Amino acid sequence: MDTGVLIIGGGPAGLTAACFSGPGTVLAERLPQVGRKLLATGGGRCNLTHEIDADGVINAFGRTARFMRPALLAFPPQAIRAFFSDLGVETLSEPDGCVFPVSQKAADVANALERAARARGAQIRCGTRIVRLLTEELPGDAACRRRVKAVETDRGLLHPEAVILAAGGQSYPDLGSDGSGFRLACQAGLEVTPPVPALAGLVTREEWPKTLAGIVLEHGGMRVDFKGASRPMLTGPLLFTHKGLSGPPALNCSGEIAARLRETTEAGGGGEGLTPSVPVRVCLDTRRSGEDWMRLFGEWRARKGGRALHNLLAGEMPRALAVALCGLAGAGDAAVARTGKQALRALAEACSDLRLHITGTEGWSRAMVTRGGVALKELEPSTLACRKVVNLFCVGEVVDLDGWCGGYNLTWAFASGRLAGCAGARQLS
Ligand SMILES: Cc1cc2nc3c(=O)[nH]c(=O)nc-3n(C[C@H](O)[C@H](O)[C@H](O)COP(=O)(O)OP(=O)(O)OC[C@H]3O[C@@H](n4cnc5c(N)ncnc54)[C@H](O)[C@@H]3O)c2cc1C
Repeated sequence: MDTGVLIIGGGPAGLTAACFSGPGTVLAERLPQVGRKLLATGGGRCNLTHEIDADGVINAFGRTARFMRPALLAFPPQAIRAFFSDLGVETLSEPDGCVFPVSQKAADVANALERAARARGAQIRCGTRIVRLLTEELPGDAACRRRVKAVETDRGLLHPEAVILAAGGQSYPDLGSDGSGFRLACQAGLEVTPPVPALAGLVTREEWPKTLAGIVLEHGGMRVDFKGASRPMLTGPLLFTHKGLSGPPALNCSGEIAARLRETTEAGGGGEGLTPSVPVRVCLDTRRSGEDWMRLFGEWRARKGGRALHNLLAGEMPRALAVALCGLAGAGDAAVARTGKQALRALAEACSDLRLHITGTEGWSRAMVTRGGVALKELEPSTLACRKVVNLFCVGEVVDLDGWCGGYNLTWAFASGRLAGCAGARQLS
């Protein structure tokens, strides 16, 4: 063995692992610099965690996220903030719970992590790409487990005692994570859930939302509308774009939508001649139900009956949206008193529970994270070691876990990196 722990990837998960995996650690990063994606997070400000407890983080990751519990209990958001404070990076929490460095500079977070990893004895080798994991059977093991015996890099072979795979997902490939982590995991015999883009803008089948690009609905909501969909309405500012919809509710729905689209395509498409699509329901103002809108229309009929419905509606939302919705509901530009009950009902439904169809996301180059990755059943949650490959650990986004916007994905990167770093160090002793 020429190396203690070898960490593949110098993102937040790999750098954190390097802070805990003990002296003799080598971290290999394919780019000339570590933490490239970290520098881009939070628009350069780095939303590094959320002011919430471990269970709150788990809730942001969906059904399978109980898996994260040991990592998050050992390194919850509060402990992450204390860790960075010890490294000289003070943090503050914004009113929505998102936590940023006081300096508002992602570079301070990345530099602190890199400094700490080096100070704790890790050797960082930038410009080194890992190309292959070579495994062998564990001699005499009744469970037929394997171990990594060597790692092929573009600069030669390494023989580490333990390997932490922290190569990220597949989104924003220019920032380093190009899906090679998934290929390495497959080589090692691990099951990888097919990756799809997540936290990405949505493309609508309907053309009319695209004509409203730039409009923001501060109190918007969205839910995915198919049998078995995982979530109720997700709320927050909703943004119309040139392709369809964005903003936190749309971004947070995008992983589930992309996975569903992939399944539909693999099963043969969306029906004869149809591009596959996923139905969603959009609420334009979560403070108002369909009944509330009907009551408001009733008041308009009683008091302002001669005025055009779209002009009255334009007092409640941007005019272009009001006009588009009146058109959809069949109300046109008629006076409110002359608009039939059926059209008013259709308009109330459009305002509170609008049906749209999503045909895709804005893709890998615009997705903030990856859904899919190393299947959770391959990993032991208390250490993040692979069940089948005893000296291999998987951390961060390479694992099949993706969370909402709001600092949750970095929280997982830090917490998983720490857990596997400590476990890797224990394996050496
Ligand atoms: C624009 C943008 C903004 C974001 N903002 C936020 C935010 O504010 N808050 C938040 O919580 N999350 C945010 N995220 C998500 C967050 O950045 C990721 O979830 C997180 O970086 C994942 O960490 P990681 O260490 O697992 O992977 P990465 O950060 O992707 O790091 C993986 C590293 O491995 C290297 N690598 C890959 N393959 C190899 C190989 N074969 N050999 C050697 N090295 C390799 C890559 O070059 C890369 O440096 C954002 C993402 C993007 C794209």
